[in-house]
Amino acid sequence: MEPQVLEREAQSAIEGASTAAELDDVRVRYLGRKSELKQALRAVRDRETGMALNALRERLEKAITTRRRELEEAELEQLFAQEGLDVTLPGDPIPRGRLHLLTQIRREIEDIFVGLGYEVWDGDEVTAVWHSFDALTTDPGHPSRSPSDTFYLDDDTVLRPHTSSDQIRAMESRQPPLYLIAPGRCYRRDTPDATHSPTFLQFECLAVDRGITLADLQGTVLHFFRALFGPEREVRMRTSFFPFTEPSVEFDVTCFLCGGTGCAVCKHSGWIEMGGAGVVDPGVFENIGYDPEEWSGFAFGLGIERIAMLRHGLPDLRAFWENDLRVLAQF
Ligand SMILES: [Zn+2]
Repeated sequence: MEPQVLEREAQSAIEGASTAAELDDVRVRYLGRKSELKQALRAVRDRETGMALNALRERLEKAITTRRRELEEAELEQLFAQEGLDVTLPGDPIPRGRLHLLTQIRREIEDIFVGLGYEVWDGDEVTAVWHSFDALTTDPGHPSRSPSDTFYLDDDTVLRPHTSSDQIRAMESRQPPLYLIAPGRCYRRDTPDATHSPTFLQFECLAVDRGITLADLQGTVLHFFRALFGPEREVRMRTSFFPFTEPSVEFDVTCFLCGGTGCAVCKHSGWIEMGGAGVVDPGVFENIGYDPEEWSGFAFGLGIERIAMLRHGLPDLRAFWENDLRVLAQF
């Protein structure tokens, strides 16, 4: 092919390339190792022809470089136009988390007791059988000790079946007077349903001092329920039995939904059962080395989920563990 014809053809192919890939093809076709121009250069015998062909090669390379720059700029323009980035637009709001309802209630409970001068005791989820049963004077044959009720890690170690274990651990490591609450996760071999779960939160309240009586317990519980459920609440106690308290009571609070006139939540009695309590049995003090002649105390335990369910009208305990944000985000 005549060099002039070749140049016209190559220049028009370079102009016509509309993408970087097409331009690459053009370069291979006209300047590549097997191109007509390279073969002509290899075959050249005289200086004049050689100079002319080299000049042609340089012109074509320059044209390709120019075209490549044009294509790159056009591509960039197009990208900018497509993305339309406006740095002044506000971004998408980042969703903010919140504390789980049970955490909110646990902290509220802690605040109420801290306000009374109590200490928050951080207990252990793995405890000795001694702390969970023996020291609490639980009868060796008591059904709560059974492996079908309690999770045993070995013969002497269990997953805390109740926060009462923390009473013992606290008393073992301190001398009275003691005023503390121990909130924490407990474990029992329960099949999950609307009101049972193999894991649940409790808190234990323990006061040990000189001259503590059942009246102190009653006053403390009343203060607590009024702080939690409203200042009109009343508390009543019924006699009961627990191995580690004497006397033992169960306490009810006036229904905060109907105010005592009767509704579904209080089973039309006007009262809601809340939990067990009592004056610490002298045998417990003897077990941990306190002198029961000098010291007396009271203890009670409450389920944190039960408080949450009652206060917010939640019918199913499992809602706390399923972590459905549509439920949790309401609190
Ligand atoms: Zn009611």
